[in-house]
Amino acid sequence: MQNLIDKRLVIESGHNSSAFGRKPVSLSLREDAGFLVGVDLGSFYTRVVITDVRGTLVYKRELKTGMADGRDLVLSRTLKAIHKAIDDSGKPRNAFKGIGIGHSGVIDVSKGLVLSFPRPGQMAEWKNVPLRDILEREFGVACLLEDSVRAIATAEKHFGLGTGLNDFIYVDVGMGIGAAIFIDGKLYRGPGGSAGEFGHMTVDEHGPLCCCGNYGCLETLASCAAIIQSVKSAIEKGVDSKVRELAQGDLNRISIEMIGQAAMQNDGLSFRVLHEAVSHIAIALADVVNLLNPHVLIFGGALFRSEPELFLEPLKRTIKQRALEKSANEVQLKISTLGSEAGALGAGRLISEIVVERLHQEA
Ligand SMILES: [Zn+2]
Repeated sequence: MQNLIDKRLVIESGHNSSAFGRKPVSLSLREDAGFLVGVDLGSFYTRVVITDVRGTLVYKRELKTGMADGRDLVLSRTLKAIHKAIDDSGKPRNAFKGIGIGHSGVIDVSKGLVLSFPRPGQMAEWKNVPLRDILEREFGVACLLEDSVRAIATAEKHFGLGTGLNDFIYVDVGMGIGAAIFIDGKLYRGPGGSAGEFGHMTVDEHGPLCCCGNYGCLETLASCAAIIQSVKSAIEKGVDSKVRELAQGDLNRISIEMIGQAAMQNDGLSFRVLHEAVSHIAIALADVVNLLNPHVLIFGGALFRSEPELFLEPLKRTIKQRALEKSANEVQLKISTLGSEAGALGAGRLISEIVVERLHQEA
């Protein structure tokens, strides 16, 4: 420990009270022991944050991902955004100890690979992309690649409603749908590392073809992409809706926020499409509640950020109708209060755990 103090990485933060003998000194990492970059490479937006080793946010930035421009451009834009964040933060380059990045594809964490990206138009380009190594080569610091939902859930565990909870399930509904399961305070990954693929639960065996190859996955019926598509095609078929006006007549501009806003103003189409999506999510969740008996379900992602009050009651009602009474009565439903930078914060937190461990080993 003296070594860490000499290196000015930790400070003595007072004496813990102890009933016997010499009082142990409690040590904590100095907030300027190092800085970390957290990145969330999302389907629409890339978020970059910088935090100190304790997780305090010192900088954040958001830019458009532009997935349609192709993988290489997306990657070079991401590297540039990280360089700019480091420069803009005003912290010296050698103070940066690590970069954590979240991606919404199927991830092999141990190899740092994006195995695939099951989204229309992205399948071929994002196969076996060594994203972690690309970052390590560019920046020369420890890097980590994680599934974006697990990165968001990590932020929830350390900075959000999951703080202090040992067991909870985080459910994220954005352009895709995913979940993260915490058991005994730890993220459950499963032996193969892909636990939590809630979006690929079959809810309609005759439903639409999913990018994963299965039919009727939850994601094809209830993701923001599916909701936007349903509203768009109904308007194209002549259904009257406030969304047309909100999108200023350009149906390609329809966003989940517009649909939420229209539903709050009693727009029939928006209300019906959202209601159907939430009902699919709740039916799938009732199975999860029966299977795992969670005491807390935390909901996040663009759908729940749009108009949170639209969702909680219908979710509760359907889970109560469908799950076993005891488990349904025991589960509490909460909507995340973290902002859209949660994924980047969580990715930063994950790399900070590795960096802090290395700092201690160096001592
Ligand atoms: Zn699927």
